[in-house]
Amino acid sequence: MDFSLSEEQQLIQEMAARFAATELAPIAAALDRDAQGQRPAMLANVAKLAELGFLGLNIRSEYGGAEAGTLAFSLVITELAKACAATAVTVSVTNMVAEVIQAVGTEQQKQYYLPKLCSGEMLAGSFCLTEAGAGSDPAGMRTQAKAVEGGWVLNGTKQWITNAEFAGVFVVWAVTDTSQAKGKGISCFLVEAGTPGMQIGPAEHKMGQHGSATNEVAFVDCQVPANALMGELNQGFKVAVGELAGGRIGIGSLALGVAQAAMDYGRQYLTERQQFGRPLSDFQALQWMLADRYTELEAARLLLWQAAWLKEQGLPFAKQASMAKLYASESANRACYDALQMLGGYGYMQEYPLERMTRDVRITTIYEGTSEIQRLVIARELLRELQ
Ligand SMILES: Cc1cc2nc3c(=O)[nH]c(=O)nc-3n(C[C@H](O)[C@H](O)[C@H](O)COP(=O)(O)OP(=O)(O)OC[C@H]3O[C@@H](n4cnc5c(N)ncnc54)[C@H](O)[C@@H]3O)c2cc1C
Repeated sequence: MDFSLSEEQQLIQEMAARFAATELAPIAAALDRDAQGQRPAMLANVAKLAELGFLGLNIRSEYGGAEAGTLAFSLVITELAKACAATAVTVSVTNMVAEVIQAVGTEQQKQYYLPKLCSGEMLAGSFCLTEAGAGSDPAGMRTQAKAVEGGWVLNGTKQWITNAEFAGVFVVWAVTDTSQAKGKGISCFLVEAGTPGMQIGPAEHKMGQHGSATNEVAFVDCQVPANALMGELNQGFKVAVGELAGGRIGIGSLALGVAQAAMDYGRQYLTERQQFGRPLSDFQALQWMLADRYTELEAARLLLWQAAWLKEQGLPFAKQASMAKLYASESANRACYDALQMLGGYGYMQEYPLERMTRDVRITTIYEGTSEIQRLVIARELLRELQ
């Protein structure tokens, strides 16, 4: 067994780390305080990330992608999240949107959308599944698409959609056959920004990741052409479930990045701050926090890399992706909590990055499937293995 990264993976990781340190870190706190004011700077960074090939990391080169694989995707998201979780999630979701198009799009859809997403011509993608009444149970969605001459008409409202403010293309799930059992008559559509009838709601007020866009997306008699249908009619729910598994590697990697940065900051602080006439790092209670949290981060990294490797090999990876997301996001929350604790009152102050990181990391146990849903997926797979 070989745990070392290939030369290409190391290079990509270094590029991402350098970009995060020089371009993302300097504006991360300002973006957190004033998301709208800093939006142009944030989007300029996303455009530069496109130039680096980071918006289509697992997309084939014939469609303009970097074709670097899922492990490279995980490495990039971790490095970006060390500096700015909001930018990292923007990139993670855009990669996921590109991957779903690559997986189930027609040749025409792939040739049209993927080069635009990878190059940043369409600066981001959005994944529109959740609704007010359908979160953990998206099969209960109410958004409908009705066939009309020459296309489809969409009606319904998606909620908390990442990147919606500036995405060029939206992957949207809607019920296309109400007579079928729940989750069966759902299809997937590609809707371009600016399509009449698609309305982007105001920015949500969130606990963290302020710099990432999260908005409602409403469809009011929104007509799309027949070729906006992506994948097989009425088979869209399976596509959503399958693609979410890949997305979970992204969110787990993001959680790992935030937590790694938080613990690295805390570790350094322990060596510099003195109390009782000694550096904090002399106190065993704090040493044990370091030992426990770094051990968990290492375990999270291995789970993520394993899930990424399985996906790259074309092997089943849903269980491992859920395990990796569950463990990475929960251990990352513990790491940020402890790192903040190591700084005492300073950790609670906005002049130090820990309070932002602790808010930013909180969502990772919720979006792209809550921890409870990951456990449900893992347990279902474990029991299925018995059959
Ligand atoms: C900032 C942000 C960005 C997001 N971005 C996107 C996006 O880009 N696209 C998108 O489609 N969605 C997005 N979401 C939605 C996100 O994926 C959902 O919030 C998430 O799936 C949970 O759904 P819910 O919030 O409706 O919670 P609910 O489903 O109402 O769950 C509430 C609680 O009940 C638990 N629960 C539910 N069912 C079960 C069960 N069977 N067993 C045990 N416990 C259960 C949950 O784990 C949770 O603790 C985003 C959300 C946020 C907050």
